[in-house]
Amino acid sequence: MIVSCATQCAYCHSPIVSGQRWVREKIYDPGLNGRDPNYHRYHAEPFTGQEASCWEKHQMEMEIGRTNAYAA
Ligand SMILES: [Zn+2]
Repeated sequence: MIVSCATQCAYCHSPIVSGQRWVREKIYDPGLNGRDPNYHRYHAEPFTGQEASCWEKHQMEMEIGRTNAYAA
C-alpha cells in the first residue's frame, strides 16, 4: 500500500482525483525542526452547486478565527 501517493482534501476529506485542481498549503509545525514539511491539500474548484471551493472555505474559516481572536 503506497500511502504517500494518496491525495486527500484536508477540508472535505474526499480524494482529489487527477484532473481536479487543488491547492497546497504548507503546515508550519515547530516540532518538525528541519524535517520534511507537511502539506495540506484542498480542492481549488467548487463542487457543482457550491459557491466556494474547499480552499476558499478553509480560508474563510481562518479569517473567522482571526476575527474572533481580535475580538476576544
Ligand atoms: Zn475538498
